[in-house]
Amino acid sequence: MTQPEKNRPRVLSGMRPTGKLHLGNLVGALQNWVQLQDQYESYYFVADWHMLTTDYADPSELQPNIQEMVTDWLAVGLDPEKATFFVQSRLPEHAELFLLFCMITPLGWLERVPTYKEQLDNLQGRDLHTYGFLGYPVLQAADILMYKADFVPVGEDQVPHVELTREIARRFNLAYGELLLPERPAEYWDAVAAQVGIKHWNDLKLKLIKNPAEKANVIRDHFRASSIDDRANYLNSGVGSVQDIFPEPQSLLAPSPRLRGTDGRKMSKSYGNAIFLSDPPEVVSKKVAGMMTDPARQRRWDKGNPEVCPVFDHHKLFSPPEVVERVNRECRTAEIGCVDCKKLMAEHLNKFLEPIQERRKIYEQAPQMVWDVLEAGTQKARVVARQTMAEVRAAVKLT
Ligand code: SF4
Repeated sequence: MTQPEKNRPRVLSGMRPTGKLHLGNLVGALQNWVQLQDQYESYYFVADWHMLTTDYADPSELQPNIQEMVTDWLAVGLDPEKATFFVQSRLPEHAELFLLFCMITPLGWLERVPTYKEQLDNLQGRDLHTYGFLGYPVLQAADILMYKADFVPVGEDQVPHVELTREIARRFNLAYGELLLPERPAEYWDAVAAQVGIKHWNDLKLKLIKNPAEKANVIRDHFRASSIDDRANYLNSGVGSVQDIFPEPQSLLAPSPRLRGTDGRKMSKSYGNAIFLSDPPEVVSKKVAGMMTDPARQRRWDKGNPEVCPVFDHHKLFSPPEVVERVNRECRTAEIGCVDCKKLMAEHLNKFLEPIQERRKIYEQAPQMVWDVLEAGTQKARVVARQTMAEVRAAVKLT
């Protein structure tokens, strides 16, 4: 099979299979993915190995969760005709690249990833003192670089991960990329040799050799035998360049309004405060009725501030502008009460969810369609992954 043509810039993003998705997932990632699939060559993957880095103990729900999650992807409008969907663990190439990156990634880089310490503190009750958890940003780097993605859509908190990926790409290129040297006269290479401190046997060789190209080869040998840090210094002082194996991806900062859940905290399945894309209308209405509001509105006649109210967050995203404008005004003057305001919001939210749930039903009734989409996407992704690993193995002399 030939490598798919890369006509447009490529984006890659993944999601851990947590099961049914909620409104927070929709506004935080999926809506953006839907837009990107029209502009970029898009690869979206099920990050099932990533799931195991924090939840290795009980994988019994992994497969049903993948199915539910990808059903939601398709229901919100992600389109297999436009984007490629695949399952990470179906491509062992990711594990191989991860392993090779592990060889070159200094421990200190991982320990300083901000989310590492944060998650150790936040995810209480889970055993996160594992090599897999510390190393998951390296696995992310393998996921991204495997497809030589130009952009990675991320929220603010994920930017350090993309930065780490860039550092790993740079270090890998330095370690295994071919040194490219310009054509220069013999005296030039003698000057370079003095500059980079070539001594002993190589120094003697340089003096004996008169041909400039052969002198350049001595520099090349010296470069190969130097530490990664020294190589970086040589390149910085203009000795030459390395042929990149991996391009450095850029973060594509996604417009992702943070949606609060029914209890006012960030919407999250694990907090039990989420409204799911697949919740039937009566469940949505019940959840909305129990939502936290502006705590200053204790009584019907108390004036409120919609900006502190999670119900208003939802109005802004799912209600038409005239309703948003009305709630914004009438909450402040206590003309509208919270009960009516919530009913109004639930009504518009249910309207918004209706076409998503219609599409969802198609895949619920024929779940094999979801797996077929993943199988076709995985095969497509495999072509790219194999090509990349062939280049990588050749560079690391593993052929
Ligand atoms: S009226 Fe609406 S926006 Fe204002 S506090 Fe009540 S629920 Fe929130």
